[in-house]
Amino acid sequence: HLRLEALTRRFGAGAVLAADHVSLTLPKGALLALLGPSGCGKTTTLRMIAGLERPDSGRVVVAGRDVTALPPHRRNMGVVFQSYALFPHMTAAANAAFGLEMRGLNRAERQARAAEALAMVGLEALADRKPRAMSGGQQQRVALARALAIRPDLLLLDEPLSALDAKLRDSVRDEIRSLQQRLGTTAVFVTHDQAEALAMADLVGVMNAGRLEQLATPEEIFERPATRFVATFVGRAT
Ligand code: ATP
Repeated sequence: HLRLEALTRRFGAGAVLAADHVSLTLPKGALLALLGPSGCGKTTTLRMIAGLERPDSGRVVVAGRDVTALPPHRRNMGVVFQSYALFPHMTAAANAAFGLEMRGLNRAERQARAAEALAMVGLEALADRKPRAMSGGQQQRVALARALAIRPDLLLLDEPLSALDAKLRDSVRDEIRSLQQRLGTTAVFVTHDQAEALAMADLVGVMNAGRLEQLATPEEIFERPATRFVATFVGRAT
């Protein structure tokens, strides 16, 4: 469903190779966790998938269509960032509906979609609240609702749990996973937390210094790490 072909991006006049020929294939409905230490290129890779960053070379292909040259709003991807990036002056419903207008939906359709998405994340009762009157977990659910409201082909999550406290993190993590499975939405999840990646993902891609070191199931990554770096990062180095 998602195919990355040798995606490459340099920064700083070429000095930093943030993504180095990243290639992978993700089947429809699967959740991929991009895992690796700070600075390894996870966010850059996700941003290139979303269209927020242009690759120097390589291609992004979704459902057989090359989207590399398309702007973000023409890719039908829902993105959730680390910080919720909600509009403070807008209600939960208006935040969830953001992005639907430029996709050509009329007012009634936008309201229906926003209500549907807020119900998916269990926030229908808070539709008229503004972000400051909601907890961190609720705000992150609104951000998730906004991403789902467009009925995305691909859900992209960049450390969506990192602003939440430990207890909340587990419950929001489980909710994201069960929603993603129920809707059958293909998803890419960026994290530096190996426990999170191993617990959530169908496939884990371990990145190091811009390169994808291994792409495999959580079990394979844990039991048969392909490189010393992977072994060390998942805590199996001897
Ligand atoms: P983190 O977990 O800390 O967010 P990451 O794995 O997501 O890290 P990236 O944010 O993709 O890593 O960064 C990869 C490399 O590219 C880093 O060395 C970073 O400093 C560099 N980089 C990323 N964005 C830019 C930019 N806009 N300008 C210059 N360098 C950048």
